[in-house]
Amino acid sequence: MIHKVIIIGSGPAGLTAALYAGRANLNPIIFEGPQPGGQLTITTDVENYPGFPDGIMGPELMDLFRTQAKRFNATTYNLMVDKVDFSCYPYKIWVGDKEYKSHTVIISTGASAKLLGLDSEKRLMGYGVSACATCDAFFYKDKKVFVVGGGDSAMEEAIFLTKFASQVTLIHRRDKFRASKIMQDRALNNDKIDVIWNSEVIDMIGDEKANGLEKVILKNIVTNEISNHEIDGLFLGIGHTPNSSLFKDYLNLDSKGYIQTESNSTKTSLRGVFAAGDIQDNYYMQAVTAAGSGCMAAIDAEKYLETLE
Ligand code: NAP
Repeated sequence: MIHKVIIIGSGPAGLTAALYAGRANLNPIIFEGPQPGGQLTITTDVENYPGFPDGIMGPELMDLFRTQAKRFNATTYNLMVDKVDFSCYPYKIWVGDKEYKSHTVIISTGASAKLLGLDSEKRLMGYGVSACATCDAFFYKDKKVFVVGGGDSAMEEAIFLTKFASQVTLIHRRDKFRASKIMQDRALNNDKIDVIWNSEVIDMIGDEKANGLEKVILKNIVTNEISNHEIDGLFLGIGHTPNSSLFKDYLNLDSKGYIQTESNSTKTSLRGVFAAGDIQDNYYMQAVTAAGSGCMAAIDAEKYLETLE
């Protein structure tokens, strides 16, 4: 059997592509990947997705996306794609030993926020720990927060957080920022922002079932001094990694590994292969923009299929 549309990844981009492809009678199948529902499943309240004036929990929002796509005969598989071969046509995709063929592929595998790798960080994600200031800053009105990182993302998160938080402290592992001069200046000239240099987060203390994050433990890597800090929130600003490794031999990627698409389109460097959401966008990175590009990818796939008739 040759499928018309296979979608890889199931965040807002993938599930919106599934909804549109389903409504176009293309019977899409979706491989949901390692984190069904995508990054929103690790956040709590989503307050900036239009249509939910009282906000909605991230996992619930993604369940609604999935239910809506299934209503139009999209089939979701809670499976990981292991390998693709885009050197032949129809394109081939493997899940374990099982091979699938498709005329079009929509890639919506997203990007993963880099994490520090602590067990406590995983446990408290969404409960005081966040990798998205735009999503969660609002919950820290008049609170004290840490931002980890020394690049432009960390500066941007810290500056954004000052609109809400009473005090924002950047935690950086070296004594110099990596960020552009202009972003550093903006952060360092902001009265609400201070910096703890040469320091790494070695643990986070708190109970996800009670008050969430309560304390952060830092180690100064020059003096080895350990310090405890009572804070309300910790934001990770140490970068994102696009989940593009499966496709690197077939598609044009930019220098950071994001899939390149034509402007105002989701077309990649291969005909019939489209990319939507954070896998091709490291600028907006919002659920609503990802959903919009998922819609575009389904329409682009539909138009491409028409050329085969
Ligand atoms: P980045 O430039 O790679 O910076 C990551 C920062 O996190 C670095 O300071 C790094 O420390 C630190 N870091 C990485 N892993 C860490 C770990 N395990 N523990 C502690 N610290 C860690 O990433 P980014 O800031 O996300 O920026 C990515 C790209 O997007 C850059 O090209 C940036 O210019 C661009 N960007 C631009 C803007 C803007 O212009 N408004 C905003 C956001 C991003 P070290 O410095 O010690 O390596």
